[in-house]
Amino acid sequence: MSRVLIIGAGGVSSVVVKKCASLPQYFSEIYLASRTVSKCEKLQQEAGADRVKEVFAVDADNVPELVSLINKVKPDLVINVALPYQDLTIMDACLETGVHYLDTANYEPKDEAKFEYSWQWAYQDKFKQAGLMALLGSGFDPGVTNVYTAYAAKHYFDEIHYLDIVDCNGGDHGQAFATNFNPEINIREITQRGRFWENGEWKETDPLSVREDLDYQNIGVRASYLMFHEELESLVKHFPTLKRARFWMTFGDAYLTHLRVLEGIGMTSIEPIEFQGQQIVPLEFLKAVLPDPGSLAEGYTGKTCIGTYITGLKDGKEKTIFIWNNCDHAACHDEVGAQAVSYTTGVPAMIGASLMLEGQWMKPGVWNMEQFDPDPFMERLNQYGLPWQVIECDSPFAK
Ligand code: NDP
Repeated sequence: MSRVLIIGAGGVSSVVVKKCASLPQYFSEIYLASRTVSKCEKLQQEAGADRVKEVFAVDADNVPELVSLINKVKPDLVINVALPYQDLTIMDACLETGVHYLDTANYEPKDEAKFEYSWQWAYQDKFKQAGLMALLGSGFDPGVTNVYTAYAAKHYFDEIHYLDIVDCNGGDHGQAFATNFNPEINIREITQRGRFWENGEWKETDPLSVREDLDYQNIGVRASYLMFHEELESLVKHFPTLKRARFWMTFGDAYLTHLRVLEGIGMTSIEPIEFQGQQIVPLEFLKAVLPDPGSLAEGYTGKTCIGTYITGLKDGKEKTIFIWNNCDHAACHDEVGAQAVSYTTGVPAMIGASLMLEGQWMKPGVWNMEQFDPDPFMERLNQYGLPWQVIECDSPFAK
């Protein structure tokens, strides 16, 4: 028997809850908690009250509140699909109650858009000593992209040298401007300076200033921009043979124009301002007026293509492969009522959780995805809705 407590009831959670609910062989009892309990109730209704046993309101910024909830539910594992701001409080509560932990995004302080694993890696000894495991970044990117890299290193290469992760959303949601996951987290991420790894050091670029037009499988050519993404940090640490590691994401012209205007007038700032006698954070206000990413699912057409180009040596010869998944927005809506960005995050969270609960991926400590055997995870991607393909490329990825 395995009991999970899912924290957060937004777009990604809706997929995690429904996928876990459909797999009683891994998740025999499911509990759900979030800030707004009505969102949990709605999800409980959609997934079935026989599968989601009970729902709770919780403030996941508050460790004592989390501890008392976890002690009440007594789960084997907490799946954190709230926001990155809550990672450390939920990890603290898991340590205090003796429960395993999983998330999909690295910790960020609310008052500083800083993306690094240092805060969570600092929990390594505490989790080890407690005999508990924390699995970090079990979404798509980070998550599946880390596992693709580990799979390539295991099966296709003797040594990997160049890594380019590419993330294309070729979908159309019909809105003038919207983000596909939490707007606050998304805008903080894409407005930061670009960063990539080359010859043993991080190199910086101005935000979204480096562009390549890349051809995505079953989508076509899209403008792609170099940005920093958190999996680069763990991948260059765990694959020290990498000479260069970069991340690219597609943005349309209309999206970038909106973003530049919003930035230009200060709406993406995280510095609080005084407004009608109270302090407000412009980006939090912007989030409140933008569409809820979950609401984009209906009528969303087109596909995503997220994958990993890897160049390295096999038997002394250089070669390049591309591993990727295409995910169709409308098919995700038909299956679980979600759009593909929530789906591609929620399914890997469910898979990571299933492998932990079964003991296939279980060792005390704090781990990134590439530190486990990629094979069972890759098998489950094919089985549970995110099938992948591998091709050998004629030439390396754009230099
Ligand atoms: P949403 O904003 O849709 O959902 C977040 C949920 O967390 C909401 O239900 C929210 O409550 C709840 N929440 C926020 N603060 C608290 C709190 N203090 N206490 C309790 N609950 C809280 O976000 P998404 O579903 O889009 O994203 C979820 C996570 O997935 C994020 O960490 C995001 O970074 C990550 N992600 C990872 C990806 C990957 O590939 N690895 C890709 C996309 C997202 P309320 O409803 O009251 O606001």
